[in-house]
Amino acid sequence: MKILVINCGSSSLKYQLLDMDARSVIANGVIERIGEETGTVSQQNHPDEWPDRKNSEDVRVKDHEAAMRLMAGKLTDGQWGVLRSLSEIDALGHRVVQGGERFSKPELITPEVIESIRETIPLAPLHNPANLTGIEVAEELFPGTPGVAVFDTEFHQTIPQKAFMYPLPKAFYTENKIRKYGFHGTSHKYVTKAACDHLGKAVGETNLITVHLGNGCSMAAVEKGRCVDTTMGFTPLAGLMMGTRCGDIDPAIHAFVAKHRKLSLAEIDSVLNKESGLTGICGKNDFRDIHAAREKGDKDAQLAFEMFTYRVRKTIGAYMAVLKTVDAIAFTAGIGENDQFVRAAACEGLERLGVRLDSDENTTRRPGTRSIHARDSEVAVLIVPTDEELEIAQATRALVENKH
Ligand code: ADP
Repeated sequence: MKILVINCGSSSLKYQLLDMDARSVIANGVIERIGEETGTVSQQNHPDEWPDRKNSEDVRVKDHEAAMRLMAGKLTDGQWGVLRSLSEIDALGHRVVQGGERFSKPELITPEVIESIRETIPLAPLHNPANLTGIEVAEELFPGTPGVAVFDTEFHQTIPQKAFMYPLPKAFYTENKIRKYGFHGTSHKYVTKAACDHLGKAVGETNLITVHLGNGCSMAAVEKGRCVDTTMGFTPLAGLMMGTRCGDIDPAIHAFVAKHRKLSLAEIDSVLNKESGLTGICGKNDFRDIHAAREKGDKDAQLAFEMFTYRVRKTIGAYMAVLKTVDAIAFTAGIGENDQFVRAAACEGLERLGVRLDSDENTTRRPGTRSIHARDSEVAVLIVPTDEELEIAQATRALVENKH
């Protein structure tokens, strides 16, 4: 069974074609800078079957509809293509950022599902319109091919009301649906299952703290396999410090900045999303650059590192109090999987809470899921490479196969 996973971001389209029976990725592509003067499309094909098939070209991509057509063309064209015809694809898995309270599991795409996704646009004005375009154009490009929507928010729908409500006037929730939704759910879910596999424990009997540190960063407290709290909130701006996003700040800063720095609401929103976080403090958002600067004595880079890891460590402590007993802490995504310094600082001094890293294991680079805690650590500490595309593809397969 061949499944195409489609991830329409606010200005990009990532796609991955998987052969579910061979358990392999046939092709992996990304179209970037959609809507700008020059964009790029890159596609990498499975190296065993298509050696040297790593292609990239500059191309202007007007909008997400054009991006979808470009993807379909690249998957089948003579130079880059991996398919004779798009009809070889058995199912489509669409990532949808915001599912609101309506979706607590993946759904086969129907006109009603499309309508419900449309209704959640006010909650995710940058992302859900792009996701919807992906779904609608796919219906035209892949007629008759079943599609499944997998929501970033669905894993977090088990969070209890005491944790998802904000202490605001109740009508903000009842009338405007303002509450914590949480994001990166597909990653937290995948990591939960992979961590339990590695530990040899049933998902329903395992308590975890999952730590997704990539460009966006979030953590989840997972009790008996079900999410009970997460750091992102009404939007993906909340919680941990991130590459360019501020995470939690005093909400009164908004009004103060508007008055004293004379910024509009839209400008403040842009600063908090694009010019804050690691970038705001030290001008860099890639930890490889930040460590290189720290080594040269750059104090801002050092401060950014300390602020970032302090927040992760503080949240580990908070989630230990939420869960009471924790089987494992699982680090994932670009930083979580690759950055030994961040992991070490995030776990530093937590011995009395039962967390002891093995510094050799933490610093040795190896592929796959693995343990990095000391033998006498009560809490396991794991590195779990995330695979959101595989999670979406597996959910898609399960629903499509059930239908027949
Ligand atoms: P996205 O959220 O876009 O999927 P990723 O999960 O790929 O992001 O994470 C990207 C971030 O991972 C980079 O900004 C960088 O800080 C970090 N990163 C990637 N590789 C390394 C590495 N080898 N060492 C330290 N940090 C890394």
